[in-house]
Amino acid sequence: MSNTPNIFKVTMLGTASAMPVRDRTQSAQALQVHGRLFLIDCGEGTQYKMVQYRVPMMKLDSIFISHIHGDHVFGIFGLLSTLGMKGRTIPVNIFAPANFGPILKFFLSYYGEGIPFEIRFTPLKMKGPEIILETKSTQVLAFPLNHGIETFGFIFREKEPLYNIRKECIAEYGLTLTEIGTLKRGEDVVRADGTVIPLAAAAYKPYQPRSYAYCSDTAPFPEEGAWLKGTTVIYHEATYPEEYAPEGEKRGHSTARQAAKVALEAGAGRLIIGHYTSRNVEIEVFQRECREIFPDTFAASDGEVYEI
Ligand SMILES: [Zn+2]
Ligand SMILES: [Zn+2]
Repeated sequence: MSNTPNIFKVTMLGTASAMPVRDRTQSAQALQVHGRLFLIDCGEGTQYKMVQYRVPMMKLDSIFISHIHGDHVFGIFGLLSTLGMKGRTIPVNIFAPANFGPILKFFLSYYGEGIPFEIRFTPLKMKGPEIILETKSTQVLAFPLNHGIETFGFIFREKEPLYNIRKECIAEYGLTLTEIGTLKRGEDVVRADGTVIPLAAAAYKPYQPRSYAYCSDTAPFPEEGAWLKGTTVIYHEATYPEEYAPEGEKRGHSTARQAAKVALEAGAGRLIIGHYTSRNVEIEVFQRECREIFPDTFAASDGEVYEI
């Protein structure tokens, strides 16, 4: 067994697109990975959804903002104020496009006194996938999307874990601490007398690294599938069903089928879709259109939790 609490799951806080609708709020997701809590996008009402779905907001580590369209960012001001009122002193990281900088500055110029914690803002400006945050067990990458204004997607992936030693092998082989270290790094032990203790016999990988990608908002673009190659679970916006495809193209969004094609090209394990148009289209339509191309698709609703 691994010593790391091996939790990797995402709570859908908001699955609507820009217009207010019943039963859905605007884009936001809470991602828990190995004891860290990340917030991805922060549409209006995010803090209420965190309370409703019991996401412990004081434990928030970092906020990742894809772009400054209101449906992805209007909730951050209320959330930061609430964290201030709750007496938070631990810094909060915010990763967002550079044009969020002046907005944050403006907000803090009026409300900063109520924010007793440091906000560490990192402007994103990469042209391809780049690591923006690294913890002991996880890497976070950002990459540009195709949405008219500067927009970024995010990939959260577990690092390769160290090998675990089979307990019974410690006594059987009389392993020394140095030898245990060698096996943990994934190497065979070769003793001075030429005896080899093969890695496969004495150790095992506690888990296969998993990954989660967040792609919203975006129209499809050529590199997308390749950049997401091998991702365990992809969340992709699917704003429109096929019948509104021309509108998607005009507004820099994807259709359900386009989202499914990205998942297929990436060889993803599962696809989760959201950011549905406020037009009166049944969610089943989006899901069905995706499943014709990529069967392991799930149309998300607010409050759902997906294990990665
Ligand atoms: Zn949006
Ligand atoms: Zn947008």
